[in-house]
Amino acid sequence: MAKFSVKKIEKNVNKVVCNGDDTHPITYYSLDGAEEIVCRYCSCLFTKKNVKGAEKYVG
Ligand SMILES: [Zn+2]
Repeated sequence: MAKFSVKKIEKNVNKVVCNGDDTHPITYYSLDGAEEIVCRYCSCLFTKKNVKGAEKYVG
Protein backbone atom coordinates (compact mmCIF):
# COMPACT_ATOMS: atom_id res chain seq x y z
CA MET A 1 0.00 0.00 0.00
CA ALA A 2 1.27 3.42 -0.96
CA LYS A 3 2.17 5.84 1.74
CA PHE A 4 -0.38 8.45 2.57
CA SER A 5 0.45 11.93 1.42
CA VAL A 6 -1.12 15.36 1.49
CA LYS A 7 -0.97 17.80 -1.40
CA LYS A 8 -1.87 21.44 -1.18
CA ILE A 9 -3.81 22.74 -4.15
CA GLU A 10 -4.44 26.31 -5.19
CA LYS A 11 -7.86 27.85 -4.58
CA ASN A 12 -8.57 28.16 -8.27
CA VAL A 13 -7.85 24.51 -9.07
CA ASN A 14 -10.93 22.44 -9.84
CA LYS A 15 -9.36 19.29 -11.15
CA VAL A 16 -6.45 17.18 -9.95
CA VAL A 17 -4.72 14.16 -11.36
CA CYS A 18 -3.15 11.38 -9.29
CA ASN A 19 -1.20 8.27 -10.16
CA GLY A 20 0.15 7.63 -6.67
CA ASP A 21 3.75 7.97 -7.90
CA ASP A 22 3.05 5.26 -10.47
CA THR A 23 1.34 2.92 -8.02
CA HIS A 24 -2.04 3.13 -9.74
CA PRO A 25 -3.56 4.21 -13.08
CA ILE A 26 -3.74 7.92 -13.81
CA THR A 27 -6.99 9.13 -12.32
CA TYR A 28 -8.63 12.53 -12.63
CA TYR A 29 -10.73 14.03 -9.90
CA SER A 30 -13.01 17.01 -10.18
CA LEU A 31 -13.34 18.99 -6.98
CA ASP A 32 -16.67 20.39 -8.08
CA GLY A 33 -16.66 23.10 -5.42
CA ALA A 34 -15.26 20.88 -2.67
CA GLU A 35 -12.25 22.00 -0.64
CA GLU A 36 -10.60 18.62 -0.63
CA ILE A 37 -10.69 15.22 -2.19
CA VAL A 38 -9.12 11.88 -1.36
CA CYS A 39 -7.73 9.59 -4.02
CA ARG A 40 -9.67 6.35 -3.98
CA TYR A 41 -6.57 4.33 -4.86
CA CYS A 42 -3.76 5.67 -2.71
CA SER A 43 -5.62 7.77 -0.11
CA CYS A 44 -3.61 10.83 -1.06
CA LEU A 45 -5.41 13.93 0.18
CA PHE A 46 -5.70 16.95 -2.10
CA THR A 47 -6.77 19.96 -0.11
CA LYS A 48 -7.20 23.71 -0.39
CA LYS A 49 -6.89 24.03 3.37
CA ASN A 50 -3.59 24.71 5.08
CA VAL A 51 -2.32 21.36 6.29
CA LYS A 52 0.98 20.99 8.04
CA GLY A 53 3.46 18.99 6.00
CA ALA A 54 1.51 19.26 2.77
CA GLU A 55 3.48 19.28 -0.45
CA LYS A 56 2.57 21.75 -3.14
CA TYR A 57 0.52 20.12 -5.88
CA VAL A 58 1.94 20.60 -9.34
CA GLY A 59 -0.66 19.70 -11.92
ZN1 LIG B 1 -3.70 8.38 -5.95
